[in-house]
Amino acid sequence: MSSFAEEYAALQSELDQVLQNCSRPAEEVKILAVSKTFPAEAIREAYNCGVRCFGENKVQELSEKAEMLPKDIQWHFIGHLQSNKVAKAVQYASWIHSVDSLKLLNKLDRIAGEMNKKPFILLEVNSGEESKSGVSYADLPELAKAAASAENLSFAGLMTMAPLTDDRREWLNAFAKLAAARGELEKMLSIKLPELSMGMSGDFAEAVVCGSTIIRIGSRLFGNRNYNL
Ligand SMILES: *Cc1c(COP(=O)(O)O)cnc(C)c1O
Repeated sequence: MSSFAEEYAALQSELDQVLQNCSRPAEEVKILAVSKTFPAEAIREAYNCGVRCFGENKVQELSEKAEMLPKDIQWHFIGHLQSNKVAKAVQYASWIHSVDSLKLLNKLDRIAGEMNKKPFILLEVNSGEESKSGVSYADLPELAKAAASAENLSFAGLMTMAPLTDDRREWLNAFAKLAAARGELEKMLSIKLPELSMGMSGDFAEAVVCGSTIIRIGSRLFGNRNYNL
């Protein structure tokens, strides 16, 4: 097994190569290290390599790790957010990638206001029939309109997961579709939506070609997870 440092360096140079090939500047894409299921020591090792942005998909796990680890870590919540866990998510995560309903959006806005916080949010869009999470493209404009006017949330962009298939063309279609939707929403709402959170260990190259600005990388950096989440 190679160390986190080696994996991180290898990932960065692959990412640089992809960026060069599609003539995008290197600063445009951030690597979010998805540390779900891995212990705090694994995060500490990554932290010691200079990584400051970590992604978690369970609120309880996020809060336990955040309490144990340095306070300058920027936590991103990337999992399904249950309504009764919103306050705890807002307490620990400054980014929430998985807002996919008006009900969740409104609750986040209200609770963030009560807590005097203003988290960055991304709207998660559903790219495949097999997935339950994410707003449909049909309902996205209405949700985006509400997100843009939420007082206590910084609406920063869109997130998706590629459909579960080995067909690269379907990944590319899904990523290109999200990028196009971002452009349409920017026009419709006259706002800037700088972030596109798309691409994981197996498909980040395709996502970057389509304009991703945040790639969410778990197994490629930390190794295989013991259980599937
Ligand atoms: C687990 C997870 C990832 C990371 O997946 P890998 O294939 O391990 O890189 C990215 N995004 C979300 C939403 C996840 O739940």
